[in-house]
Amino acid sequence: MVLKEDLINELNEVLAAKKYPEDQVALINEAYRFADKQHKGQLRSSGEEYITHPLSVAIYLARMNVDKEMIITGLLHDVVEDTGFTMQDLENKYGKKIALLVDGVTKITKLKSASKSDIKAETIRKMLFTMILDLRVIIIKLADKIHNMSTLEHLPPEKRKRIATETLEIYSPLAGKLGLNIIKNRLENLAFKALEPNVYDEIEEFINSNKNHRIDMIHLISKKLKNKLEKNNIKFKIKSRVKHYYSIYTKMKKFNKKIENIFDLYGLRIITDNIENCYLIFGIIHSIWKPVHGRFKDYIANPKSNGYKSLHTTVILGKRKFIEIQIRTKKMDEMNEFGIAAHWYYKKGNTPVDNNMKWLNSLKKVQEQKLSPQAYYQTIRSDILKDEIYIFTPKNDIFEMPKGSTPLDFAYRIHTEVGHRCKGAKANGNIIPLSSELKNGMVVDIITSKEPCPKRSWISICKTIQAKRKIRHYFRANDDHGVVHEPPKKEHPEKLKKAKDRPHSQPAKKNQNKNIGILVEGEKNMLFNFAKCCNPKPKEPIIGFVTRSRGIMIHKFDCKNINSIKDFENRKLNVNWS
Ligand code: MN
Repeated sequence: MVLKEDLINELNEVLAAKKYPEDQVALINEAYRFADKQHKGQLRSSGEEYITHPLSVAIYLARMNVDKEMIITGLLHDVVEDTGFTMQDLENKYGKKIALLVDGVTKITKLKSASKSDIKAETIRKMLFTMILDLRVIIIKLADKIHNMSTLEHLPPEKRKRIATETLEIYSPLAGKLGLNIIKNRLENLAFKALEPNVYDEIEEFINSNKNHRIDMIHLISKKLKNKLEKNNIKFKIKSRVKHYYSIYTKMKKFNKKIENIFDLYGLRIITDNIENCYLIFGIIHSIWKPVHGRFKDYIANPKSNGYKSLHTTVILGKRKFIEIQIRTKKMDEMNEFGIAAHWYYKKGNTPVDNNMKWLNSLKKVQEQKLSPQAYYQTIRSDILKDEIYIFTPKNDIFEMPKGSTPLDFAYRIHTEVGHRCKGAKANGNIIPLSSELKNGMVVDIITSKEPCPKRSWISICKTIQAKRKIRHYFRANDDHGVVHEPPKKEHPEKLKKAKDRPHSQPAKKNQNKNIGILVEGEKNMLFNFAKCCNPKPKEPIIGFVTRSRGIMIHKFDCKNINSIKDFENRKLNVNWS
């Protein structure tokens, strides 16, 4: 049983250790006494006094060394929701700033259409609205989530699952976007434990039973490294860690593997004092062990959009033995764990405007749209909180897209009309299917036709909710008038003209076989040629593959030349006669 007396002592100890000034400590203690009075008689599902929850949240916040307003908000955050006290009372007593923060983390309770999922979506909408005004609200909410998630076992299974799912859909991605990696990992692990308790236990057991083996391995690597680095007079520190269970789990699921077949469960982190040393160490590591191709990443030269900086490499230690090594400076390490978000609000005031935070601008746009609660929730989930990739136009304009986006999503992102007229796409000069997944850093060229040509099947191909909406809108508008396509919209004539002038927007060349129709992955109007080697005839079984320069080549399904085509498996396409 957790007692409030112990927790308030703990809070005061943390405040003292973090050197909060006396007058602030007094204010925080006063807020505690007030909240305690308000929650008097209320119990948590665990049977503990309710005040133990706001106290735990406040302790968590104080450990992060946030300002006094945030800690006070942590203490007061459930007062309006759960007691007779109103937001106005709170403003009168504690001022506008704290009232705004509390309001941001308070659930919506009164809503006309009171379905549970609508209330959930509206609550998130309000919270994110407040977050745009004051970033601190989300850090308080995340601290609240961590405590609620770590006391989930006291709730009925249904509710537990619902809360865990929402955590994975909204809160852990939000923490990641803000660079608060410790919080993100913790929330993911707690949610995973609630959703898949058996797999969680299985991973934990495996990790524990291999502990000695791991220690030996780490010791051996460290020794080798130490020798080399000391010879080069480099100052460094080595930390070892087990990857967080949720990421092990997603790997097991993605590759359909058992845990004993996941080879990079452990990681090493090398901390040094400057950037030059990071690169030196990187080189030295590669001179000792062979790196796994495609696994080294330079997030120092190219930081992630949440500000994350580090060098990553995975090296081969022996047969089926790998280890991931991260190299970074001490400062980077602190930023990566604690989040740049928390750092820059100290310096710049509370408005989260930062060039690295492009997603916040996308979020602002979504907040301004009048979406239904469900459409809003889906958009936030799929378009805003997904990991992002960067896609270039042939003119080097850069677009941030959610991971998993297709060329069609990209076309609609450039402009609605480019989307409607999208006929094909090239990535790095090669034709790719409209349904393929775009990869980070691709140069994507959208081929357009003169007239709009959307298809209903596009709705399921597109991954972004915004593109889906535009396609649905197109068909709704056209169904109303009973015509095949609507006249091009003139809302952004200049932008559209620019898009049209670009070389990548030229209509596709006419297919050489004008009278014969081929559906490529279900798509009409793709650029294709028949292979001369087997010259397929209509109705014969066929298969397509993507060439480097001549569009899609159609072969007979049993053409023997296929076997000699390099990389055929990765470049093949489903094609049909239409
Ligand atoms: Mn709470």
